[in-house]
Amino acid sequence: MRDWFVVRRVTRDLWMIAEPGHVVNWLYAGSDRAILVDSGTGIVPIAPVVARLTDRPITVVNTHYHFDHVGGNADFAERLAGVRGGPLLERAAPRDLLRRYLKAFPAIVAGARARVAADPDAFALSPETEVRDFPPDFDPEAWLPGRVPATALLREGDEIGLGDRALRVIDTPGHSPDGICLFDERYGVLFTGDTIMEGALYAHYDESSLPDLRASAAKLAALDAPVHAICAGHIPRAVAETSLIGETVEAVDRVLNGAPHTLAHDVFGYTVRQTRVGRVWVYHSDGAGSSFALHD
Ligand SMILES: [Zn+2]
Repeated sequence: MRDWFVVRRVTRDLWMIAEPGHVVNWLYAGSDRAILVDSGTGIVPIAPVVARLTDRPITVVNTHYHFDHVGGNADFAERLAGVRGGPLLERAAPRDLLRRYLKAFPAIVAGARARVAADPDAFALSPETEVRDFPPDFDPEAWLPGRVPATALLREGDEIGLGDRALRVIDTPGHSPDGICLFDERYGVLFTGDTIMEGALYAHYDESSLPDLRASAAKLAALDAPVHAICAGHIPRAVAETSLIGETVEAVDRVLNGAPHTLAHDVFGYTVRQTRVGRVWVYHSDGAGSSFALHD
């Protein structure tokens, strides 16, 4: 069976640790410590994978509390999150929502494999997007991501020192109320979680806010140092075309101004509105059709 994780070294100090089809985690190592940006679904533990990549002490920083970003938190002694994520990290993901997620997944696997068969060379079919079957020993009913509190909370402007570099905390609510981005100003590396996304940008949850998302993207577009790479929570590569930030502002703007939408399904099988503007596909809601929460 293939490994659950696809690990790719992007630069000397940056690794992509993807769970194809689910989420992308990033390991960023400074001279004194390494930061694991999000800890995955928890379907397979990420800690042993990370331990093989660096000998620095590892701190997890969660970009937000959603279950696919915090599943491995319990295996790390030091866990940081945005101040608004504090109480949310202590909540469990709803059992029904996890069931819906797992139920929707075979269709995603089948679709991905059909695309592989149709066009093995396309970018979208890079190894990171080759979705895996769930491991044979995975017990869906025992899968309980969440409920692991942060050991400290981060505020806008806080610096996380890694020794020879630092990550600055930027509050970016919108996709979720607690979203943060992490920016290494010196090297231009920006970890965006689910705030900046190529493809499906989810802003249809009860807790999502399109105006907040627009403001967060505009804040990133106005950063006082150049961004050279965007490391997002669901794109299986570091995106160098940082025009994606400006495109996100424009896409959310258009949705707020009533741009037409089509109907699409999210990863839980709910029908939601989708407006595609270039590379950014904004998922949004009229507030009636997709009412569900990401925590109990
Ligand atoms: Zn999310």
